Amino acid sequence: MFTFLINRNLYNVKILIYCAKDEIFCLQELNYLINSYMRCKISDIIQLFFPETCVICENTLAYGEISVCLSCSSVLPCTLFTSEPENQLEKNFFGRIPIIEGTALLYYQVGNPTQKLLHQLKYKGREEVGTFLGNWLGEVIKQSARFKEIEAVIPVPLHLKKERQRGYNQVSEFGRCISLILGVPFIENVLIRNVFKESQTKKDRIHRLISDGLYAVENSAVLKDKHILLLDDVITSGATIEACCQALYQIPGIKISVAAMAYTG
Ligand SMILES: [Zn+2]
Repeated sequence: MFTFLINRNLYNVKILIYCAKDEIFCLQELNYLINSYMRCKISDIIQLFFPETCVICENTLAYGEISVCLSCSSVLPCTLFTSEPENQLEKNFFGRIPIIEGTALLYYQVGNPTQKLLHQLKYKGREEVGTFLGNWLGEVIKQSARFKEIEAVIPVPLHLKKERQRGYNQVSEFGRCISLILGVPFIENVLIRNVFKESQTKKDRIHRLISDGLYAVENSAVLKDKHILLLDDVITSGATIEACCQALYQIPGIKISVAAMAYTG
């Protein structure tokens, strides 16, 4: 006899087959059986035993829904910034740092559905939220004439300690999806986050971000003369983006546009 063990890890499905040594199946039969199972929609079988739930309302997802149900998706507060030049987010950086284009997918407010969505991503291990938002914003940006010149996608680096605790940078999956849709490289080894000394952490946050060089660049030749899309999860004051841009503008000829999952304005 043999047993199928279906081990679900996000979108990776691993099938382990154990055969008792004295009852080994004819390999051809076994192969046929596996292929049949694969053909008969393995995702449906998994859904039957381990139903996926909506990250916002926690109801079981219907066929074809990914991460968020249709009902919750329809009430997410979209900014529509991607098709709006000189939008609120861009105005936030006027006089501070040059940004070519700026956008965010959703408005973020305490208690709104966006907050719940991002809480699941940042604190509940639901990394697939990054995929959901990345695919969504990627398609929106691809349709926009304003972002046609983007040549690379770069995430804001997370604090190493936080990344270790969480097991992932919540912006990475989001960024990978956008880069795939735009057909440009996703680059994580140029903009880096410096490690702070204890005494430096006592300064106020904005002053600390900008004046103490929290961010730095390595391998800068990769982005010379490139128009990049810098990504963050939520933009509030814009201090993180401003500090990242200060480091990135040391690269000759670089142009920076900005995109985020959400904006608090
Ligand atoms: Zn829902």
